[in-house]
Amino acid sequence: MQPAPAPARQACDHPGCVLGGEFRAPMGRLREGQYFCFCLDHVREYNASYNYFNGMSDNDLLKYQKESLIGHRPTWTMGVNRTARGFREDSADAAGSADPLSRFRSRARRPASEPRKPRYGVAAMKALGTLGLDDNADAESIKARYKELVKRLHPDANGGDRSTEDKLREIIQAYNTLRSAKLA
Ligand SMILES: [Zn+2]
Repeated sequence: MQPAPAPARQACDHPGCVLGGEFRAPMGRLREGQYFCFCLDHVREYNASYNYFNGMSDNDLLKYQKESLIGHRPTWTMGVNRTARGFREDSADAAGSADPLSRFRSRARRPASEPRKPRYGVAAMKALGTLGLDDNADAESIKARYKELVKRLHPDANGGDRSTEDKLREIIQAYNTLRSAKLA
């Protein structure tokens, strides 16, 4: 099914609501590209309770995490119409992070039986996550991973293909964050 703009006269999908459904909201994982159409109040309500990773097992999370390292992204983030952008901002607020992956990246590799606080701050943890590392990484392994990723993602290493540029920029930014935190 292809993502398509909501028809102008579509009714709100919330049961019993008689308003127009002018705002799209993604149905969720495994239903990428499919959307509900809600009125403003109901899209807000839906966004507040939306969790992309609902019902995902730990193994699926790890797999997803691995795929995210090579550029996997939920397809709905690619829609850049006003409604999709609104949804992203709403969900980012609700989660306290613009990156839904950052919330489990660091804890995914840890057994659930021994919870512990991350050694580093939120920014550093997020940067480590971007590099595919957790807070067990020392300066040496951070540098090694950084070099490896830059080599792999550099356009020169991909026959001039610039599609990996955004990812590369993210990696460089993450590394700079770690350097200013004296972690690399
Ligand atoms: Zn409604």
